[in-house]
Amino acid sequence: MRYLSTRGHADRKRFCEILLEGLAPDGGLYLPERYPQVDAIALQRLRESFNGGRPGGYAALAFEILSLYIDDIPAADLRALCEKTYTEAVFGTPQIVPLKKLEDGFYLEALSNGPTLAFKDMAMQLLGNLFEYELARRGEELNILGATSGDTGSAAEYAMRGKHGVRVFMLSPHGRMSPFQQAQMFSLMDENIHNIAIEGVFDDCQDIVKDVSNDLAFKRAYKIGTVNSINWARLLAQVVYYFAGYFQATTKDTEQVSFTVPSGNFGNVCAGHVARQMGLPIRTLVVATNENDVLDEFFRTGVYRVRGSADTHETSSPSMDISKASNFERFVFDLLGRDGDRVKAFFGEGLSREGRFDLSTDPVFAEAASHYGFRSGKSTHADRLDTIRDVHRRHRLMIDTHTADGVKVAREHREAGTPMVVLETALPIKFAETIVEALGRQPDRPAQFQGIEDLPKRVKVMPARTADVQAFIAQHCARA
Ligand SMILES: *Cc1c(COP(=O)(O)O)cnc(C)c1O
Repeated sequence: MRYLSTRGHADRKRFCEILLEGLAPDGGLYLPERYPQVDAIALQRLRESFNGGRPGGYAALAFEILSLYIDDIPAADLRALCEKTYTEAVFGTPQIVPLKKLEDGFYLEALSNGPTLAFKDMAMQLLGNLFEYELARRGEELNILGATSGDTGSAAEYAMRGKHGVRVFMLSPHGRMSPFQQAQMFSLMDENIHNIAIEGVFDDCQDIVKDVSNDLAFKRAYKIGTVNSINWARLLAQVVYYFAGYFQATTKDTEQVSFTVPSGNFGNVCAGHVARQMGLPIRTLVVATNENDVLDEFFRTGVYRVRGSADTHETSSPSMDISKASNFERFVFDLLGRDGDRVKAFFGEGLSREGRFDLSTDPVFAEAASHYGFRSGKSTHADRLDTIRDVHRRHRLMIDTHTADGVKVAREHREAGTPMVVLETALPIKFAETIVEALGRQPDRPAQFQGIEDLPKRVKVMPARTADVQAFIAQHCARA
């Protein structure tokens, strides 16, 4: 299997070559040259691997699916990496991603029982093991530099803690994360994890990461890398739980299932698109957004319009607060018949200059729904509160704010005879303030998180200056 860039670059690369990379050299995103096809016999075999979610089933399924895309890691090693990653000890249940039934034909798929209680653990935990494996094989080290306002940073730290050959330097805006999120990140005492609280806002943190990445001499000397959501290995890991969700919601491989996905950067739902392109019988992929409705607008109108910072709302489902959807380019590449030149025209300088592109009059736009099965919808703060209350009253289940956006939009797209699965992307404890607003009580807290706010914290507070961050990195790693 070779990988190509969505912007038409001639290079073709193998999985391990792109594993540690972000963007392709032409600024595009990596995708496989073709999607491996899963026919009826193969689907039956995958269902048997998953084995109804019995112990080891999810890891076996992950190995089978990853093997279709990775041919430069020996099979026995890849299987061992999957088995080490997807364990009941880390994810809380033997099924790893159990379905919770709301009512007949309407389910939540629990993706947030990993170490940081958000679905990003599903991919990041595998990435940590893949990075450690590949770096050891090359005899190299990597220093991961990132900026976070919450979920991504903690998932990356919990995935990389204690891993050989990897250090993490994670910038966050000083005093702006919830006490729970701060406790999650800052209580890590692993030597290879460095929390840096920047005196500024999230954008200041991101600007510093950009500055450091643009300082090519520094980047090379200190082996700086990232783990952002455009990483192909992360997306690939997420394909697996669409299969696992499908097998749990059906008994026969001829049945169809629809999924609703709370979306921000379009990474999660893009993995659903890949699963559907492989032949998994997905009827509809419903994109649920919050007030930041870039994606809902596109799927309704054919116009993709990125938002300025003044136009980007701070909401009670903050992990979906995006101004542009960084993985969306992958889907548009397929929608445009894999025409790299057109993708480059839309997403390259065109988008920086115009801030939008318009496919409303292009015949391909209709295919987003008719051929690729996409629908969309939007949810607001008031919808979120109503949905959290309603699900709690009717089903005795507490859901988080992002999942509530998904449930609200899913209800608008249910069809008789087709099960609807909503991806549960976080647990309510992470967003306690809104749960209290909706239900008048604190969310349940899993036992291992009792009292984490009182643990000792390890964090370095710094002014928003790139040079200071660079000096800190230099001090904490051996020069390569
Ligand atoms: C990251 C995140 C999302 C958005 O996922 P994308 O892959 O960016 O679309 C939704 N919900 C939660 C809780 C998240 O952490």
